[in-house]
Amino acid sequence: MSAAEQQVNEYYNKLLKRNAGEPEFHQAVAEVLDSLKVVLSKDPHYADYGLIQRLCEPERQVIFRVPWISDNGNVHVARGFRVQFNSALGPYKGGLRFHPSVNLGIIKFLGFEQIFKNSLTGLPIGGGKGGSDFDPKGRSEGEIMRFCQSFMTELHRHIGEYRDVPAGDIGVGGREIGFMFGQYRRLTNNHESGVLTGKGLTWGGSLVRTEATGYGCVYFTAEMMKEHGDDLSGAKVIVSGSGNVAIYAVEKAQELGATVVGFSDSSGWVHTPNGVDVELLRDVKEKRRARVSTYVEEAQGATFHDTGSIWDLEADVALPCATQNEISGDNAQKLVDNGVRYVAEGANMPSTPEAIEVFRENGIHFGPGKAANAGGVATSALEMQQNASRDSWSFEYTDQRLHHTMKQIFRRSADTAAEYGHDGDYILGANIAGFRKVADAMLAQGII
Ligand code: GLU
Repeated sequence: MSAAEQQVNEYYNKLLKRNAGEPEFHQAVAEVLDSLKVVLSKDPHYADYGLIQRLCEPERQVIFRVPWISDNGNVHVARGFRVQFNSALGPYKGGLRFHPSVNLGIIKFLGFEQIFKNSLTGLPIGGGKGGSDFDPKGRSEGEIMRFCQSFMTELHRHIGEYRDVPAGDIGVGGREIGFMFGQYRRLTNNHESGVLTGKGLTWGGSLVRTEATGYGCVYFTAEMMKEHGDDLSGAKVIVSGSGNVAIYAVEKAQELGATVVGFSDSSGWVHTPNGVDVELLRDVKEKRRARVSTYVEEAQGATFHDTGSIWDLEADVALPCATQNEISGDNAQKLVDNGVRYVAEGANMPSTPEAIEVFRENGIHFGPGKAANAGGVATSALEMQQNASRDSWSFEYTDQRLHHTMKQIFRRSADTAAEYGHDGDYILGANIAGFRKVADAMLAQGII
């Protein structure tokens, strides 16, 4: 074992003890540290000044009580989080997730990944993440609004245009951002539009932000396929999930000539051998907020399944766009057996380490979430630019900027992997390219 490897292993063992009970955080750190061993053996100065230790310790973590009253008069107490992980490159930036699975370890894994993702975009944004274990499922609009207001009543002290700029994630879309922005404005008596991204178009939002993560994931996939002499035209694509990321990944993949053969939600999955009717899917999920089985009732030739797995379908490309650890080692093996050659992560960390191992062993071209789903936060940074200059750009121009950013992200990941002698390993390339920029900034800014 090299000195660098030994140093990293020792540090990782300490991290496991100091952050007990946070398996997702351990998983996210392990993946990055693995890539950093390669960097440290070439550029050992990156281990100086406690850099790696500082990178893995959030600058600040806020945990707070969020009391709210349901329509039936009961009082509920949820837990709120904001982890401000790293601001070396810019204000903390990252989404808010409202989901019953949320805990500190989940927010820390998301915040940690966000540092490298945001760095990789080339835009001036640091990394953070937040959310709550509040479960929005089945709640009325009034309940959602009161929850968002209570959440922001504490969060507003910790955020700001130049400090920390939250956005959406699972369970937080345009409606929730609206309620939170309203409460922020009321509490601060300021129309500080740059404090949140994902806003409505008439009050500081950016065109393309809604579509950006899904479109970006497909732009990344197209670049990766091009690199290996392929394209999306005529390809069969599986897209898991049916939220904001999935819907626009489906739309863009089909626009580029692919057939999307399946999508899903937490109730089951839908087989769509003839492709997806995007308008209907949007109507079911965005307007009616219904389950995917409703889509099947109204679509031609689609079937709903609540047994088996969406990963059993035959396809050329898989875009996991639902949630963390949704692809097990067995699922990955099934995908390989069924002909999948490209995987790009629209969600954050949807592939388990076992799945990644299977993809590696079988030569699957794999775009990690940090790179493939960075289009969402990149477009958030474009929203911040528009807010700062009190301007609003056209759809075409913003989409062009997104497309260009995704091409650059792919190039940086590919070139960095090659530079370190691991051609085609986009995980390694994305981790190292993201890391180097943050690390250089941290070294320049002293021990803080
Ligand atoms: N939640 C998204 C992500 O995982 C977007 C964050 C943002 O726009 O700030 O990157």
